[in-house]
Amino acid sequence: MSRVALVTGGSRGIGAEISKALQAAGYTVAANYAGNDEAAAKFTEETGIKTYKWSVADYDACAEGIAKVEAELGPIDVLVNNAGITRDAPFHKMTREQWQQVMDTNLSGVFNMTHPLWNGMRERKFGRIVNISSINGQKGQFGQANYSAAKAGDLGFTKALAQEGARAGITVNAICPGYIATEMVMAVPEKVRESIIGQIPVGRLGEPGEIARCVVFLASDDAGFITGSTITANGGQYFV
Ligand code: NDP
Repeated sequence: MSRVALVTGGSRGIGAEISKALQAAGYTVAANYAGNDEAAAKFTEETGIKTYKWSVADYDACAEGIAKVEAELGPIDVLVNNAGITRDAPFHKMTREQWQQVMDTNLSGVFNMTHPLWNGMRERKFGRIVNISSINGQKGQFGQANYSAAKAGDLGFTKALAQEGARAGITVNAICPGYIATEMVMAVPEKVRESIIGQIPVGRLGEPGEIARCVVFLASDDAGFITGSTITANGGQYFV
């Protein structure tokens, strides 16, 4: 029986590459998404990966969604907390809504998804949790007080939970991507993109597949001694 992996925000962007890479590595994959039905349907058609719609910001919806995935595919062995949003504004213009939406999705979303799965992983004595944080959670970013705080929070969560999961065979790790060539980054004007690339020592954007392959490694049996760690994948832009 193949292991089951659930990827939040798994039908678009980096998450879609993570879902596909896990599928290629032999996992049965479920991809969660929030609202883009069209992208989800296209993704399922192209890959055969089942998609499940709920918001990671809603605890009850997460518990129900996880129960549905487990009823259909079996107990979840690997959780990839990838769903994320930005609501950028300089702090003097940031609204409480912008703060709260980012906290609800990027930080509480990670709690909401991990908490309902935790006891099952403990009982089965195996689990892999991979949290997709960000370079901006490590270094901070102008206009992203909300996003930087949430993504830094994900790193604290990772380190605390790694300690709690260790004896139960559960590893908890994080990946901090730098600038990745997703639709969002490719949509910015070429001049802006060039200036972003100018800040990256390797001289290019990262590829979604480069993040996906880090996830596959952290999910594997080979990574069983790695927990509480952060893989920094940013082309040399920032060293921790
Ligand atoms: P995208 O915007 O391309 O995709 C985001 C995905 O998350 C979508 O599938 C979206 O669903 C889903 N999502 C958003 N909100 C929710 C929610 N409340 N509940 C469930 N799913 C939700 O993002 P990226 O691929 O660029 O980013 C993926 C992760 O990587 C994020 O956590 C991001 O912060 C992080 N990251 C990205 C970087 C980059 O350069 N792109 C750099 C560093 C970190 P739907 O399709 O329905 O909209």
